[in-house]
Amino acid sequence: MGTCDPLLTFAITLLEQHQVNKRGQCQFCGWSRCTVCRALAFSLHQGLDVVWWQLLGSTGKQCGLADVREWLRQREQN
Ligand SMILES: [Zn+2]
Repeated sequence: MGTCDPLLTFAITLLEQHQVNKRGQCQFCGWSRCTVCRALAFSLHQGLDVVWWQLLGSTGKQCGLADVREWLRQREQN
């Protein structure tokens, strides 16, 4: 995944920690108003690839949109 590795690893960690359980609560934070979960839910409506691309760009990481799409595509296959 080239130059994006550290930040994408961080993003993956967040995604895996902050998953909503059957009661609608974040299993990591233990409440339903988890910022990460809300951001993820929002991003699903916006187009996850663009949101991640903007997020990564805002932190100074130079990732191509194609790189982000490839990363997300690989995630879906796992
Ligand atoms: Zn959470």
